[in-house]
Amino acid sequence: MVIKPNGYAETPCGVRAHEEPEVSLARLDISKLTIRLTDAPKPLPDLRTLVFGVSFSDHMATASFHPATGWSTPEIKPYAPLTLDPASSCLQYGCNVFEGMKAYLGPDSKVRLFRPELNMRRLERSVERLALPPIDGDAVLELIKRLVQIEKRWIPKLSGYSFYLRPTVIGTRAALGPVASDQADLYIIACPGGSYWSHPASLLAVSDTVRAWPGGTGGHKIGGNYSPGFLPQREASAHGYNQVLWLFGEEQRVMEAGAMNVFVVVRRADGDGLDVLTPPLDGTILPGVTRASCLELAADPTFHAHISIDGSIEGTTLYPTERVFTLSDLERWSTSGDLVEFLCVGTAAVVVAVHDIGFDGRVVVRVPTYPNDPNGLGPVGRALREQILAVQEGRKEYKGWGVVCE
Ligand SMILES: *Cc1c(COP(=O)(O)O)cnc(C)c1O
Repeated sequence: MVIKPNGYAETPCGVRAHEEPEVSLARLDISKLTIRLTDAPKPLPDLRTLVFGVSFSDHMATASFHPATGWSTPEIKPYAPLTLDPASSCLQYGCNVFEGMKAYLGPDSKVRLFRPELNMRRLERSVERLALPPIDGDAVLELIKRLVQIEKRWIPKLSGYSFYLRPTVIGTRAALGPVASDQADLYIIACPGGSYWSHPASLLAVSDTVRAWPGGTGGHKIGGNYSPGFLPQREASAHGYNQVLWLFGEEQRVMEAGAMNVFVVVRRADGDGLDVLTPPLDGTILPGVTRASCLELAADPTFHAHISIDGSIEGTTLYPTERVFTLSDLERWSTSGDLVEFLCVGTAAVVVAVHDIGFDGRVVVRVPTYPNDPNGLGPVGRALREQILAVQEGRKEYKGWGVVCE
């Protein structure tokens, strides 16, 4: 077994890593940042026709890790293609991890990120899970802030729009041995975006394909979790559904919808308030920042005052609970009239309503619809979406969730 300078031990199948000399490795150091601005700024895209994730901004931030020296000097430079060795481990073995976060321009002209430290801790965990060289999330966050400041003209001024950031780490070891990559590139790219999706959605539940499983990697934001979902997603679309609802196991546990966490709002048996349920983080569920924020808001009595049912402000008590539920629970709640809302949550879409769920060729769950809400959201979804957007857009202060980029 060889302990590499990146701190990881390699126990390869027949492949022996060569000994590395003892060296002290450089950390990602933002005080050394070099900035090279483009001499050909792009025209800003038209927000009315903007397609999500297609029009990237002028610059990108990069740094690379070499096993002999550590992290290179970080750079902000014009957006450009990468040059990679064809044997790179990211291409051969899919050692790619990423994050998704947004920057918003507030009414005070300040730019805010939403709970970015949660994204950075998740990035560190994803990197660790794929045995990539360790990365300091706090330094990555500083780099993100600098990039956002440089790209400020790209952040849409319109409410509901934001600047989507995609920090990415890829393994760049140029060798075919199936072992941990001791080299890596970090890069951060960004694009302006509208609300990715806000109309009520329909979901096609699938049980023959699984997104994640116990002991697997579903709880990490790693590239390999996503491409196997593209075929089921295409089939769901061909049948007229917006997204796949991932199920798991004999009992058809509800997991996630597409790449979003899910919540159900269910009337409580004793008639006192509403249960707000989401599957627990057992390693098969991605620990979403939006999910965590919805749970925290739903646990806050001051938030309950925002819940309005049938047009009257009632201050209904919410009982947020991380709990397993199944497709047949959903069918039962829907039939008994106890199902109040089904929500999908995530950075891109924030909070969206689901109106029905298909399975095995028929609609099995009908969720009540709320045509008076512009996004078709019910009382809990509407309040969650409003509160989260208000913090993100700097219209409201809450627990320090909005982090100003200065
Ligand atoms: C990113 C992601 C989410 C949502 O996480 P947020 O931090 O709220 O954006 C949910 N599920 C999957 C599978 C994801 O990749």
